[in-house]
Amino acid sequence: MIREAMPEYLTTIGLEIHAQVRTVSKMFDGCSADYAGSPPNSRVSVVSLGLPGALPVVNARAIEYAARSGLALNCTVNTHSVFSRKSYPYPDLPKGFQITQYDEPLCSDGWVEIRLPSGTTRRIGIERLHIEEDTGRLVHADDGSSLIDYNRSGVPLMEIVSRPDISTPEEARLTFEKIRQILVWIGVNSGNLEEGALRCDANVSVRPLGQTSHGSKVEIKNINSFRFVERALAFEIQRQIAVLEAGGVIPQETRGWDEVRGETVGQRSKEFAHDYRYFPEPDIPPLVLSSEWIAARRAELPELPDARRARFEAVYMLSPQDADLLTLERAIADYFEAAVAAAQGVGGTPKDVANWVLNEGFRLLKERSEPAGRIAERMPVAHIATLIDLVAKGSINRGVAKQLFEECFDSGADPAQLVAERGLTQISDSDALVAVAREVIAANPKVVAEYRGGKTSAIQFLVGQMMRATRGQANPQVARALLEAELGA
Ligand code: MN
Repeated sequence: MIREAMPEYLTTIGLEIHAQVRTVSKMFDGCSADYAGSPPNSRVSVVSLGLPGALPVVNARAIEYAARSGLALNCTVNTHSVFSRKSYPYPDLPKGFQITQYDEPLCSDGWVEIRLPSGTTRRIGIERLHIEEDTGRLVHADDGSSLIDYNRSGVPLMEIVSRPDISTPEEARLTFEKIRQILVWIGVNSGNLEEGALRCDANVSVRPLGQTSHGSKVEIKNINSFRFVERALAFEIQRQIAVLEAGGVIPQETRGWDEVRGETVGQRSKEFAHDYRYFPEPDIPPLVLSSEWIAARRAELPELPDARRARFEAVYMLSPQDADLLTLERAIADYFEAAVAAAQGVGGTPKDVANWVLNEGFRLLKERSEPAGRIAERMPVAHIATLIDLVAKGSINRGVAKQLFEECFDSGADPAQLVAERGLTQISDSDALVAVAREVIAANPKVVAEYRGGKTSAIQFLVGQMMRATRGQANPQVARALLEAELGA
C-alpha cells in the first residue's frame, strides 16, 4: 500500500532518466558497445580507457537516435549544441571526467502525457535530453577489494530530465513507464531495466502548504524498477515530512533505495553544479545540425503509441483498456493489425482478434516467459484467422479452439490441419449426441434430481459432462437442448 503525502504538504518530484542508446559502437570511438555477456575488459579501446592522447570522435548514429528520441518526446532539437567535460572523481571513468552536455543540450522543452488510473491525463514537461557517455562498472569483491570492468565505459547514453511537474509516486512511475515505452517503440533503447540499459534517478522535495520556496531536494539514485520508483518515493516523502514535523531540516543529499529494508539510505551530500567544473570539451567541436537533417529524423518516426492507441479505439472500436494493452509494445500493435487484416478475409472482427491476442496470446507469452515480440513467430496471424473461421462455421467449438491455439503456439502446427488429422470436428448431430446425453443423465442421479427440483443451473454441470465424454467436441448448444428435452420427457 502506497501512503500519500499528508495533505498539508506539497510534494515536488522530477526524474532524470539515463537510457543507453542501441548503437553498434560506443559514443566516441568504434569500439563495440555490445558488451552483454562479454568477459570483463574485452570491449575496450584507448578512448574508452581514457589513455593519454586518445581523441574522441562523435558517433553519428547515436546523435540520430537521440534526436529521434527528443522529437518523440515533443522536444525541440537544437541546431547548435555543445559537448562539455564534467569532473568525475570516481575510477569507473578513467579519464577523470565524463563527456556530456551542459548548458547547450541536444534537445530541450518537450513533454509526455501520462494517463492516471482514473482515466484523466496529465502532461509532464521534459526539460532537456542530452548525450553523454556511460561509466564502467565497479565490482566489489567479498575480500574488500574492488574490480573495474570498463566494457560499459563510453557506451552512448541519453540523459532525459523531466520538469518538476510530478506530484505523486504513482505519477513518477507512470512517467518512467511512458518514457520507456516511447524509447523502446522507436527502437533506440532495449528497455531492459535489470541489465541497467534504463535507469532512473528521482529528485523529491516536500514543503508545507503555503510556503512558496521549494524544500531541499533529495536525489534517489539508480532506481532500476518501476515498482521501486514508486516505493522509494513514497518512503522518502514520509521520511521528509517526519523530519520537518519534528522541527528538523532536510539536507540536500543523494540517497539510495534499499529494497530489502524498504527504505532510502543516505549516500553522500549532493554536489552542486559548480562542483562539476564544467567546461566545453576542447576535443569535440560544437554539434551543428541543419533543419533538413532534423526534418529527416522527424520523417523517420513511426506512429507513436498514444496516437496508435487512439486510432485503435476509433477505427477498431476497441475499449480503452484493450487499446492500451495492444499498444504497450510496437511488436504487439503490429501483430494485432496484421491479424485483423488476416481475419477480415473470413469475416472475423477486430474484437474477435483482440480477444484471442489478449486472452490466449498474452497468457501463453507470460506462461512460456517469451518476450512479446515473439508472438508473430509463435502464432502466425493466418492461424488466428483459421481458428476464427473454424469457430464461426461451427466446425469446432470455442473450447477446442483454445486448446488448438495453445498447441499451435507451442508447436507451430496449422490448426486446420490438426482438426482434419484428429477428427476434432464439432459434433452437432443430435443422433450422435443423444446417447451421450442419456448416459450422462443415468450417471448423475443427484444432479438430475436437483435440476428436476427447480435448480435449473444444475444443467451446466451435465453439459460439462457431455463435453468431457466427447473430448470437448460436442456442440454445447445442441448438448444443452438434448439434455433439456431428455429431462423434460
Ligand atoms: Mn548523467
